[in-house]
Amino acid sequence: MPARMAEHILVVEDEADLADLIAWNLRQAGYRVTTAPRAATALAEIRRQKPDLVVLDLMLPDMPGTEVCKRLRRDAATERLPVIMVTAKGEEVDRVVGFEVGADDYVVKPFSPRELVLRVGAVLRRAAGTPDESEQAEVITIGKLAIDVPRHEVRVDGDLVSLTALEFKLLLDLARRRGRVQPRDALLERVWGYAPGVETRTVDTHVKRLREKLGAASDYVETVRGVGYRLRDDVPEA
Ligand code: CA
Repeated sequence: MPARMAEHILVVEDEADLADLIAWNLRQAGYRVTTAPRAATALAEIRRQKPDLVVLDLMLPDMPGTEVCKRLRRDAATERLPVIMVTAKGEEVDRVVGFEVGADDYVVKPFSPRELVLRVGAVLRRAAGTPDESEQAEVITIGKLAIDVPRHEVRVDGDLVSLTALEFKLLLDLARRRGRVQPRDALLERVWGYAPGVETRTVDTHVKRLREKLGAASDYVETVRGVGYRLRDDVPEA
């Protein structure tokens, strides 16, 4: 097998020491890394270089990182570009990975470089998808909900629902195990690709966003307190 082309990570961070530390660790892990100290430089570099993933600091001198992320999500050329946000406060997390901003994941300062490298790997694997799943000719129908696996299309009452790649993967995972409770850590491993033991609220935030998008089928995704989530299989036929 030919050697894999090193994936290109753009690190957007105005604190030079931190940018260097992140870049060094990512290079050690085999990635190609460039850095940008400001939002404006970052947006120009993203257009020009088309990186595979962006590590984006929330506090930048010219524009908040959340605004950079929102702009990327609004542009068809970058709407699926994986973004890991670096935040200073845990409280911002819901907003950062939520519908409004749309980052794929986050780390909270101070974070270990190793943790960031692990998350970069997981987000890239997720973005690449799993071809064996997408190639299966399969449509899963549950009540008002129809999941067309090869087309990556979801419909509720016949209307197309626009899901991110991650939301689709999450819904499909729940649908394939419908009726059975899926613990958060199992979802983290299968959908996010995290090693066991990684603690994150990302599952809850993404389920919340998925429910909002499912509209009339939002109550199909049940919360099982203290355990995880389940896709109901006791819904009436459409
Ligand atoms: Ca900063």
